Amino acid sequence: MTLTSRNPAAPADVVITTGTPGAAGTLAAVDRARAAQPGWLAAGAAARSAALTRAAEAVEAHADELAALVVREVGKPLGEARGETARTAAILRFYAQAPYAPAGAVHETAAGPGLLLTRRRPYGVAGLITPWNFPLAIPVWKAAPALAVGNTAVLKPAPEATACALRLAELLDLPDGVLTVIPGGAEEGAALVGAADVVSFTGSTAVGRAVIAATAERGVPAQAELGGLNAALVLPDADIERAADDLTAAIAGYAGQKCTATSRVIAVGEAYEPLREALAKRLAAEPCGPVIGEAALDRLTGAVDTARAAGAEVLTGGIRTDGPGWTFAPALLAGVPAGHPLLTEEFFGPVAVLLRAADLDEAIALANASRHSLAASVHTRELGTALAAADRLAAGMIRINAPSTGVDFHLPFGGTGSAAYGEREQGAAALDFYTASRTVSLLPPA
Ligand code: NAD
Repeated sequence: MTLTSRNPAAPADVVITTGTPGAAGTLAAVDRARAAQPGWLAAGAAARSAALTRAAEAVEAHADELAALVVREVGKPLGEARGETARTAAILRFYAQAPYAPAGAVHETAAGPGLLLTRRRPYGVAGLITPWNFPLAIPVWKAAPALAVGNTAVLKPAPEATACALRLAELLDLPDGVLTVIPGGAEEGAALVGAADVVSFTGSTAVGRAVIAATAERGVPAQAELGGLNAALVLPDADIERAADDLTAAIAGYAGQKCTATSRVIAVGEAYEPLREALAKRLAAEPCGPVIGEAALDRLTGAVDTARAAGAEVLTGGIRTDGPGWTFAPALLAGVPAGHPLLTEEFFGPVAVLLRAADLDEAIALANASRHSLAASVHTRELGTALAAADRLAAGMIRINAPSTGVDFHLPFGGTGSAAYGEREQGAAALDFYTASRTVSLLPPA
């Protein structure tokens, strides 16, 4: 089969056309990765650390080229694409230290002489399946920890981000079989899930569920980071103008195509009226780049139209605009009736619903009504309110006086409820995920 990826800002611009290897080619790549793994592990901590450091240097040396490719292939604004490229290098540098980290612990025996050791060992081949919205950072935040602890990896990127993944792997320039990119879609992804020794998936909830089921059937460890339906709480004591700025970034940044984007804004008490005005005004003035494709545009306009037909008020945006490319005016809606899909499903675009809560308790209940919470933000000047909300919000990341978007790569990352499955990604949590603990009992010979 052949795969084509296009520039979302200029759909006639084909970024790459490439053949896809099908299930058989994917399994062959897994076999090559499996053959390379013992050598990669035996090369030792210093060699793996040096390889990841060189990879970081290569990303830095080609930062402008990579950022331009991200802009062209997935329509990310240049500033954000530069930020993602810098973060990709930083993630590689962070995990370049991991081969030297303790790989276990020493314990006393319960009785008698000897020592008990725990030792973390890699699984073998990591199967990595990624979405298109962070086409450099997500592949690297999966691959770097997997490789650091001695696995080899096969990466199946989203078709829309194929050129980014292929160029990234070329620049990382790891030994043969250590990191292989398989261009393709569902067929290659499913084949990889069926053959890898450990699976890390990021993408939509529907596909993620199928991946989790398939790995459970095979009995291999898996993690999945899925879609989010994230809430922002704005308290009456907040600096409303600043909150509106943060929310504009969280709703419309990269056209709302971040799993941490805000899609439900919950204004408490007297915050409602001034926030409604300030946020609608900012979103109306916000320059917004293209969404990833025609289907996304149809999904977004369809959701806004059905909400309007059900009695919602569209405060701004919600329509297709003149481009360039697949563009959509960031939307804010009020009065969306309970049960409408905008309140229960991720639409993955610059659309938010404004809700009103009488007090903090009601705001938290509304926020926690979603089972897909990845990130939440709370806007308040009161430390007590911030801490209470951070305690009670069901979300994997809680950001006080900051947009819900924004991730610190050196800390664990992931959602709650149906937004995530398995061990956290990033930080030290990722090193645990890509290794299994063995307990070794060491007794004196006589
Ligand atoms: P997607 O689910 O359509 O695709 C994700 C990946 O899965 C792609 O590589 C795709 O080719 C592959 N795939 C498709 N069918 C498969 C199958 N049957 N078996 C195995 N792999 C298969 O998602 P997308 O459109 O690329 O990305 C957008 C989604 O990703 C959004 O829902 C977004 O919230 C989510 N996302 C989540 C996070 C997070 O950390 N929680 C981060 C970024 C994006």
